[in-house]
Amino acid sequence: MSIDEQVSSYYNMLLKRNAGEPEFHQAVAEVLASLKIVLEKDPHYADYGLIQRLCEPERQLIFRVPWIDDNGVVQVNRGFRVQFNSALGPYKGGLRFHPSVNLGIIKFLGFEQIFKNSLTGLPIGGGKGGSDFDPKGKSELEVMRFCQSFMTELHNHIGEYKDVPAGDIGVGGREVGFLFGQYRRLAGQHESGVLTGKGLAWGGSLVRTEATGYGCVYLTQEMMRAHGADMSGAKVIVSGSGNVAIYAAQKAQELGATVIGVSDSSGWVHTPNGVDVELLRDIKENRRERINCYAEEADGATFHADGTIWSLEADVALPCATQNELNGDHARTLADNGVRFVAEGANMPSTPEAIEVFREKGIHFAPGKAANAGGVATSALEMQQNASRDSWSFEYTDQRLHKIMSKIFRTMSRTAEEYGREGDYVTGANIAGFKKTADAMLAQGVI
Ligand code: GLU
Repeated sequence: MSIDEQVSSYYNMLLKRNAGEPEFHQAVAEVLASLKIVLEKDPHYADYGLIQRLCEPERQLIFRVPWIDDNGVVQVNRGFRVQFNSALGPYKGGLRFHPSVNLGIIKFLGFEQIFKNSLTGLPIGGGKGGSDFDPKGKSELEVMRFCQSFMTELHNHIGEYKDVPAGDIGVGGREVGFLFGQYRRLAGQHESGVLTGKGLAWGGSLVRTEATGYGCVYLTQEMMRAHGADMSGAKVIVSGSGNVAIYAAQKAQELGATVIGVSDSSGWVHTPNGVDVELLRDIKENRRERINCYAEEADGATFHADGTIWSLEADVALPCATQNELNGDHARTLADNGVRFVAEGANMPSTPEAIEVFREKGIHFAPGKAANAGGVATSALEMQQNASRDSWSFEYTDQRLHKIMSKIFRTMSRTAEEYGREGDYVTGANIAGFKKTADAMLAQGVI
């Protein structure tokens, strides 16, 4: 069988065994396309069912999460934790609370997490979890009751050396607090290494909140410099207005860029004079309001419920909202409007067609596995601090993050070159992330 046939047969089998999970198929298809090149050079990576094992989670948990709302009515949600691969370290990855969550979404995220975590160079495996619970419009007590119920089941399956969840969409510091409190109560011990993204007074790390956004901009800056450009003076579109987008915008502007647009699921805001990050943070993190409030309160900003943020003229685009938010048409518009660099702050925000357009148009593109790895990398730094009962300064932690992001850029860039795909960072990131995990799996036998 040729390599092409071999890889197609893996993929067809995967489609059959995981029916109705299009995001998972999409994530696997992209990685398999990169792996063909590896298998041609190093066929031993197909030995011992390695690829089939890599695509099959080690364990998948689905559980009922019942809770009582403020009207005394019982609500039932579904909880998930997919423990995908622990060859490099304990499962590591966030929890997403969003109505769109289902098993396929968690599997795609968990699969991506394997390669992302491997790329950080730190000893963490890949996992992901969450629930179809919608935190929007819920009272604080409802969120607390939900988190407590969720953790009542999850606590049996996680631990410092086993599986270390954190936040993702819909799960921030507040939710991690409620989850940690319930874990501590059920476990009967203060096991700080069981979750990351904790509050600073009880085992959290400085820079963790900012890390995904900062990391994305550090990596973008490396990519821009490698192609003779610089963040300073650049016009940047940042989609989203959650934790990743807010700190990506802050860091980009600190480096001299102007962030000309941000968004949420209700629309987008054009901010030609830059984003007032403190105001955006207040609206989103404290007041938990929609993005139109920003336009009402900030000078020179306009809200748009229609159209797309990707129609703005810019140099750089940082999709920081959610999966498949940027399609082929958007990518063509970006190219026509002069965008030369795209880096994914979210997980898989660009569709396969968009990535194809970036390739055709010569847009330099950093995939999420590399560009948003700063969050989980800083989670691993939080785990290091917990293990040594230490807490590091902001400057030191930020320096570590910066070094990790620079190294990720060098690794994916060098790997792409090694395989004859100079500048193809998708292939470089997939192959580099794969090889480390695959080497560990091969060394550890068929398990
Ligand atoms: N949810 C983040 C991600 O997609 C962070 C995970 C973590 O810190 O464990 O990588």
